Amino acid sequence: MTTQRILFLDHTAVLGGAELCLLDVAAYFREGSLVALMEDGPLREALERRGVRVTVLASGGSLRQVKRESAVPGFAAVGAVLNAAREVARLARDYDVVYANSQKAFVVACVSAAFARRPVLWHLHDILDKRIFSRVNIGVDVFLANHVASRVIANSQATASALRANGGTRVPVDVVYNGLDPAVADTVTAADAASMRASLGLGKGPLLGLFGRLAPWKGQHVAIQALALIDVDTDVELVIVGDALFGEESYAAELRALVAKYELAKRVHFLGFRNDVPVLMRMVDVLIHTSTAPEPFGRVIVEGMLAERPVIATAGGGASEIVRPGVTAWQIQPNSPVDLATAILDVIDDHSRAREIALAGRADAIARFTLSVTLPQTERSIALAAGGRA
Ligand code: UDP
Repeated sequence: MTTQRILFLDHTAVLGGAELCLLDVAAYFREGSLVALMEDGPLREALERRGVRVTVLASGGSLRQVKRESAVPGFAAVGAVLNAAREVARLARDYDVVYANSQKAFVVACVSAAFARRPVLWHLHDILDKRIFSRVNIGVDVFLANHVASRVIANSQATASALRANGGTRVPVDVVYNGLDPAVADTVTAADAASMRASLGLGKGPLLGLFGRLAPWKGQHVAIQALALIDVDTDVELVIVGDALFGEESYAAELRALVAKYELAKRVHFLGFRNDVPVLMRMVDVLIHTSTAPEPFGRVIVEGMLAERPVIATAGGGASEIVRPGVTAWQIQPNSPVDLATAILDVIDDHSRAREIALAGRADAIARFTLSVTLPQTERSIALAAGGRA
């Protein structure tokens, strides 16, 4: 176990994929470490349940304000970052390395380094794509990565390549995939899954599961469109698990309108954000992934594999690094309801192939995407980062 004292930093306390990843990493390195959050929320509670020390930064509020009021002039943003950076710097003096888990946290951590002179490790969970992030945003990130960060952990080759393609070539980058705990899926029994299914009042037909926050690029609309193409006699139903975490409420409303338009209310079930994903994954017969843009990593795909579900995932980004097409999961092109509907019918029609692929998926996920594989890699990156820039 590392002897480094780590100050983890994240701007949000909402449970997105990056934060669930941080939860496992911070729990493992909790001895002598602290997590500083720029807001209070479920992540703090989850960390504390795992015995991790957490503090919520007093200066976090003004940073959030800047985000909400996009018309606020740059001065306010700079002031908010400076305030947060000073607060982080005061904390950082007691730690060996600052581990920034989000882009906003990374900027604050780099500015804090000017005061506290602690090395900064950036865990990059996003594909720096100009269609998603502003040029200024990417420019700042890349400049700080090249000139301030000690090291970057990228959650896939795709995120690492995007950083390099944008000019982030001077900082050492380690690709460390997200690791998951296979025991989490194993604790769920078939009886648990069956009683969950009964309690949700779902039909007896094949059940598809789509997990993830509601956001246009996560492609929940593609799943609804695909279901509309599947003959009603198949009795196929779909559960959509997740909520609009980062201000995507209008998309959530559009999804419900789409369900009404296709008269699918009896076959599509919105379950909202759930803390019991493992049992829900075991409950479904097929796990579908529908992202329309390259996924930085795609934890839900690995979770589905660990739960021994046949998985249908869209190609692109981290998803293409996880999936061995036709061996460990079905791979389809993004944005194609027809492809998705065809793959769903394939899986449903050929039970033995689906079973074979689900078993191969689990074996591969255990070999490549479990915490026992990834935590030692993370530990090495932390140790190298704490050693300062090469
Ligand atoms: N998740 C959850 N409850 C939900 C929906 C999703 O806990 O209702 C979890 C899901 O199990 C996964 C994470 O959120 O661990 C999403 O991570 P992923 O990498 O798939 O997507 P991201 O949110 O990072 O884009």
